[in-house]
Amino acid sequence: MIDSHSHIYCDAFDADRDEVVARAQAAGVRHIVLPNEGLSSVDRLQALHDRYPDYVSMAMGLHPEEVREDYADALSQLRLLFDRHRYVGVGEIGTDLYWDKTYRKQQMLALEEQLRWCVALDLPFIMHVRDSLDETLEVMEGIHEPLRGVFHSFTGSVADVERVRSHGDYYFGVNGIVTFKKSAVADILPAVGLDRLLLETDAPYLAPVPCRGKRNESAFIPYICDFVARSLGVCADEVSVRTDENANRLFRLF
Ligand SMILES: [Zn+2]
Repeated sequence: MIDSHSHIYCDAFDADRDEVVARAQAAGVRHIVLPNEGLSSVDRLQALHDRYPDYVSMAMGLHPEEVREDYADALSQLRLLFDRHRYVGVGEIGTDLYWDKTYRKQQMLALEEQLRWCVALDLPFIMHVRDSLDETLEVMEGIHEPLRGVFHSFTGSVADVERVRSHGDYYFGVNGIVTFKKSAVADILPAVGLDRLLLETDAPYLAPVPCRGKRNESAFIPYICDFVARSLGVCADEVSVRTDENANRLFRLF
């Protein structure tokens, strides 16, 4: 199993990060992809990668909730990092209009620029979308070169899956939300299909049942894997093998 989206470099893990990594390894998680958040998380992300260079991979980008008036300056600083370090993706990027629509326009411009990085650097995007699928797809329509990437923590409908697909052959990341009682994410799994599905925790958030409400960590991936397997009527091994292949194909990990 691969945790394709985790933030275990953040301060929620400062007290026990090595134990968190050890538990992930013991739980059968063979690799973790770490997307960046903003300028202030770059050093933490790099430090975790320096400590576990073969076990974790980094993606670099500006999270939509980190986009402010000065986003262009932040982007020019982050762009320089791609010349110095190996990143497996551009992320996390996207749009988020759930709490605040103040920077809607800036979020769209920041997303557009970072999608151009994907093209120029031949890297996949890691897309965050919350209450903003229209805006996200509008920006993507402005990019005429082919893109690769994953819509992480995808909670849309089957119709939304088809809308995304009409723009490109993208992957969909599923996390602990799929295990929540009122969640409809399990309903989209057949439409997504095992060949376009990625498993993720989005740690420290969104811990799956039976750990719901606790701090999430990569060692909880098996709960998500098992739930997806039961939903699709296949064995957990198959979900594990197929989603690992997908993550490796998308991020070129191994
Ligand atoms: Zn994230």
